[in-house]
Amino acid sequence: MFSRSMYTLGAQPSSIRELFEFGRQRAKELGAEKVFDFSLGNPSIPAPALVAEAITQVLAKESPIAIHGYTSAVGSDACRDAIAENLNSRYRTKYKKDNLFITCGAAPALGAAFRALAADDGRSEFVVIAPFFPEYRVFIGASGGKPVIVPADTKRFQIDFAALEASINENTAAVLINSPNNPSGVVYTEETIKTLANLLKKKSDELGRPIFLISDEPYRELAYGGVNVPFVPNYYNNTIVCYSFSKSLSLPGERIGYVLVPDSVEDSRTIFTAIAGASRSMGHVCAPSLMQHVITACINLVPDVTVYERNANLLYEALTSYGYNCAKPDGAFYLFFEAPCGISGKEFSDYAKERHNVLVVPGDGFGCPNWLRLSYCVDTERVKNALPLLKQTIDELKKK
Ligand code: PLP
Repeated sequence: MFSRSMYTLGAQPSSIRELFEFGRQRAKELGAEKVFDFSLGNPSIPAPALVAEAITQVLAKESPIAIHGYTSAVGSDACRDAIAENLNSRYRTKYKKDNLFITCGAAPALGAAFRALAADDGRSEFVVIAPFFPEYRVFIGASGGKPVIVPADTKRFQIDFAALEASINENTAAVLINSPNNPSGVVYTEETIKTLANLLKKKSDELGRPIFLISDEPYRELAYGGVNVPFVPNYYNNTIVCYSFSKSLSLPGERIGYVLVPDSVEDSRTIFTAIAGASRSMGHVCAPSLMQHVITACINLVPDVTVYERNANLLYEALTSYGYNCAKPDGAFYLFFEAPCGISGKEFSDYAKERHNVLVVPGDGFGCPNWLRLSYCVDTERVKNALPLLKQTIDELKKK
C-alpha cells in the first residue's frame, strides 16, 4: 500500500527540471559554451565572503555540541533576536523573537502557513495571483486547501483587483502574494499594496473574520534602480511573511528562512502556534543550527545585485528592441516575455531549444501559458552571447 497522490506528485515531471537536464545533456554533446540555459533560479552571485568567515569563526569559537546540536523547535533565541532587530531597524516595527519561526527556507515556511490556515473541514481556499511560483499548487494541495487562481494583469503585472475581488468568498482563508515576483521580476508598487490592503480589510469586515495575507518574500532584497519594495505587514495587519535567505545571501542549498507572525495578526499567538504545529506535522523543526549561527552573524549583510541588474537591463533593452513584449524587471532575477507571433510559450520554448539551444521556461506552470521565463542569474557574457540567438529566433518566427 502507498499513497497514490504522493506517488503522482513524485512522478510528475517539472518542466524547469526537464529543461535543465536537457541542457546538461546538450552541453555534454556540443560543449557548454553552445548551450544557453536560462531555466533555473539558482543564484549566480556567490554568497558574501562574510558568510564563509562566519562559518569559520563559529566552528572555531563554539563547542561542536552547541553548533551541531538541535536548537529549540522554533529556532535559536539568538537567531530570532537578530532577525527581529534587523527588521525593526529597517521597517520601524517592534518585533520580538516570539514573532519568528525559523524554517528550512521559504518552501517549508509556505507549507506551514498554508497548513496552519487551512480549516479542518477541507473547504479553505487560497487565492493565488498569476503569474506565480508553480510549487504553490503543491503546497496548497498538501494543506488540504484549494488554490483559486486570479488571472495575471499582463499589462503591468500588478494586480487585477476586479478579478481578485471576484475570487474572494466565505471559504477564502488567505491571499498569497510574491513581490519581487517569480516569474515576472516585477515589484508591487506601494499603491498596489495599499489597494490590496483596503480590499482585504473591506472583505474581512464583510465576512466578520480576517482574510490573511501571506507574503512570500525570498526576493525582497533583490530589487534594482532604487525601486521601493513596500514592507507588507506595515500596510495590512493580518500579514504573515514567509522569507528565505536562499536568494538574498545566495544560500539556497543551506535551507534557511523564517515565518514572521506579527502581533498585529488577529489571534497572533494562536496562528503562531498553528504554524509551529503545522511545521511539526511535516517533521520540520530545528532548522540547521550552523546556518542559524551564520544568519545571526550575517543578518545585516546587503546583497550586491550589480550583476543581476546589468543582466536585466541588457536583456530588457535588447529583447524589446528585437520586438519581444517584456515585463520590465524591477528585481529578482527573472525576465518574463510574451511568446511572439501568436504561438504559445511551450511552442516558443521548444523552438528556441531545438533550433538554438536556448532554454527558457514556458509560462503554463506560472499561470501564463503565452509567456516565458528567462532566469538571468548567469554570467553577463552568457547573456551577451545569447542575444543574437534570441534575435534570430524572433526573426525566424516572424517569417513563418
Ligand atoms: N517562493 C518563490 C517565489 C520562489 O521562487 C522560491 C524558490 O525559488 C521559493 C518560494 C522557495 O524558496 P526556498 O529555496 O527558500 O525554499
